[in-house]
Amino acid sequence: MAGIKILKNKIPFIITMFSCVTVAALAATVQAGKKADIAETAAQTESRQVIVLDAGHGGMDSGCVAVNGTYEKDINLDIVKDLGELLTLNGCKVVYTREEDISMHDEGVEGIRNQKISDMENRLELVKSYPDSIFLSVHQNLYTEPAYFGAQMFYTTNNSSNRRLAQIMQKRFAALQPGNDREIKLIDNGLYLFKTTEQPALLIECGFLSNPGDAEKLSDPEYRKKVAFTIYSGLAEFLSGEADKSGSGDIRDTESLLYMQ
Ligand SMILES: [Zn+2]
Repeated sequence: MAGIKILKNKIPFIITMFSCVTVAALAATVQAGKKADIAETAAQTESRQVIVLDAGHGGMDSGCVAVNGTYEKDINLDIVKDLGELLTLNGCKVVYTREEDISMHDEGVEGIRNQKISDMENRLELVKSYPDSIFLSVHQNLYTEPAYFGAQMFYTTNNSSNRRLAQIMQKRFAALQPGNDREIKLIDNGLYLFKTTEQPALLIECGFLSNPGDAEKLSDPEYRKKVAFTIYSGLAEFLSGEADKSGSGDIRDTESLLYMQ
């Protein structure tokens, strides 16, 4: 149970708690594309906090398909790219499992099942090659009942900080998504990418593509930016050490996660 190594002194901006003014300023900065100054600050140190971002699925694996026809893989990638930009601008080193609409399987592997296995093995190898990182995997959920909506965080007990990270992130999404009272869910013995990862890690299901409301919002690039900023701000709070310790962590409803294994 390795504790988290937070390089607080190396990331002065990200550990600053956000005010609305900060949020607005940051959003304006990103939208205006004024990257140079902040990026220059980020480049001042070699020992930046590493964040590994995983956009779920890709290539021949579309993930869920929303009720409006949008592919999960595309939503995941868009959110991860926006999130990665925010993190990079604020001094983190960002490592992506994929930055395009591709599967990460080895060349020459044939058959969808084998390609999927190879894809997951390669993603895991990348995650494990950054043991001092924080690992975030972004997905969208699907359920047979269309009424289910809202983001939900999934975590393991492999790292003692994971539960706190999940709680903070769930709280942040509750602010973005009024009425979302979901609770964090333990996935020990669960998903391949999370079984053996020892650094702080979190599976973020941003919403249900089986829910018409979520599907419509998540198909909108502007809403995806809000999702990215929600994740970013949750990570900032986690890194700041000012966690909200509340939350029961009770398990609510089941999720369709088989496609991830
Ligand atoms: Zn997925």
